Amino acid sequence: MKIIRFQTPAGPEFGVVEGDAAYRAEGSYATGFRRGESAGELSQLALLSPCQPTKIVALGRNYAAHAAEHGAEVPSQPLIFFKPPSAVIGPGEPIVCPPQSAQVEHEAELAVVIGRRARHVAAADAWDYILGYTCANDVTARDLQRSDGQWSRAKGFDTFAPLGPWIVTDLDPTNLAIICRVNGQVRQQSTTANMIFKIPRLIEFITAVMTLEPGDVILTGTPEGVSPLRPGDQVAVEVEGIGVLRNPVIAG
Ligand code: MG
Repeated sequence: MKIIRFQTPAGPEFGVVEGDAAYRAEGSYATGFRRGESAGELSQLALLSPCQPTKIVALGRNYAAHAAEHGAEVPSQPLIFFKPPSAVIGPGEPIVCPPQSAQVEHEAELAVVIGRRARHVAAADAWDYILGYTCANDVTARDLQRSDGQWSRAKGFDTFAPLGPWIVTDLDPTNLAIICRVNGQVRQQSTTANMIFKIPRLIEFITAVMTLEPGDVILTGTPEGVSPLRPGDQVAVEVEGIGVLRNPVIAG
């Protein structure tokens, strides 16, 4: 099932996509989502980020080739940081390059969306807590990441967490092609099989620290090939079996 959120005159609603058709969703995170009445053609809807996380927990250096391109060691256990919920944007919304940075970069990532409240979850049980998967761009002000020494500012600007276009619930995430294109040119190309710490381990590690709520998001790290974005660029993150998350880039 593909789950979307879209804008209506009455406010945001969840929906379900089948081919080119969209439907209102019945249900909830707790009960599961089901197809309701027609909402028209998918192409006519204003899509929003497919979830509204209370927090985004992201992984640093979870692909060895990306750690290497920054001359960084591979961590001996998962290295986590936060992106604020205020950074989330949906498909088609612009990424704003802030005046504080001269080096804004894309990071194509597989995002895990949590479906049930999760605390102290064993790796063996982790799959039961996942609603599905979507595409993410962990947009990063690389110069500020280096100069600040910690990453809240570099990772936390408004618009620096594009998510979408939808959540796919029936997907094996262990070996999916992940590609980032800028203006149609491939910049990143890898597979989720190259993650150092796999998704069940990440959920065990994170929920030993904090409660994950339905709709919360884990960004599972980016492969090699990160590169600068400039105003006027179009950036597209594609994950096999999910789709393509496209966002334009503008000056702030
Ligand atoms: Mg990242």
